Amino acid sequence: MSTLKIPAKDLPKFRRRMLSWFANRKRDLPWRRTKDSYRIWLSEIMLQQTRVAAVIAYYERFVEKFPDVHALASAPTDHVLVNWAGLGYYSRAKNLQSAAKEIVVRHSGEFPREYESALALPGIGRYTAAAVLSIAYQAPHAVLDGNVARVLARLFALHGDLRVPATWRKLEAAAQQLLAQKFPGDWNQAMMELGATVCTPKSPRCDECPVEKWCRARKLGIAEKLPSARKKRASVDVTMAAAVLLDPRGRSLLIRQLGGDGALFSHMWQFPALEAVGTDSRLVIAAYLEEKFRLAINGNLLALATARHTVTFRNIRLEPYLVRVARLPRIADASIVALAEVPSMSISNATRKIADAALSSVGQ
Ligand code: SF4
Repeated sequence: MSTLKIPAKDLPKFRRRMLSWFANRKRDLPWRRTKDSYRIWLSEIMLQQTRVAAVIAYYERFVEKFPDVHALASAPTDHVLVNWAGLGYYSRAKNLQSAAKEIVVRHSGEFPREYESALALPGIGRYTAAAVLSIAYQAPHAVLDGNVARVLARLFALHGDLRVPATWRKLEAAAQQLLAQKFPGDWNQAMMELGATVCTPKSPRCDECPVEKWCRARKLGIAEKLPSARKKRASVDVTMAAAVLLDPRGRSLLIRQLGGDGALFSHMWQFPALEAVGTDSRLVIAAYLEEKFRLAINGNLLALATARHTVTFRNIRLEPYLVRVARLPRIADASIVALAEVPSMSISNATRKIADAALSSVGQ
């Protein structure tokens, strides 16, 4: 592997160029107008796997509802999830609130300043800890995310899959070597901004790049070819059987599941569901309802329209059934709601597709 370093004699100039480019070109984003560690942390969590343009409105609404860590920690979880709905990846919202509670109890309501303490919070990985500590507290931790990794791979003409752990560790060391120690917050944002706006995945605008002079990929004419394509994880086909129980008053049963085969979405309200492996989903869901809810089905299953849903590498075929019951079972951690109201709840898209199929079947 080629050396991932800018020559020491060039480093001051390299940093100056990056920082002055960032000062002049940075986008005006709401979380850049604050030094409040709570708001910076919130923005970093929202920006994981979601585009900047999509995050802005959610961020502004969220900070209006939950202006500080105390407000978030003490809010009902459902309220938090409703205000997260649409951003997806709901475990982020759950972890955010769990971390807020820990911050209130263990850190006097302030995001911890030590890297290890930040890392110990739910939902905080190395990237997020470094981003929050550097931007909010000017702590000298370099960030490495997809944007920064792409910039570094091109600067140093690095081939191969960047996510291979040994390569990623080398990139982390390279990012740390480049870090402008006196301005770590601006530095990290400058690197990410360069990746997001100039050193883009396709057609990088090298003519506008402040550090073009040091870029090996540019010199070699291979900027667009880097980083090398990642080896894709093969997708897996999964069938999920789901049951929409319906009582004579048009009400249905939603439950929360915390992972495992039946969890379409952890922590979210969902219809009882189960992965059907190698057998008829009708038999699987009937056996599940009998075992879990003591419901004797006796063939009382009406197949609803199937739907497709994709979660990361899983291609899910949803096979829902309508089950009319005289009385809905009473169990812990379940909610009984009018079927017509389910689509307006904070639920996953998969659950919404199932609810829509049931509603069209019963003519609502
Ligand atoms: Fe990226 Fe081009 Fe700048 Fe190199 S010169 S870092 S490829 S934008």
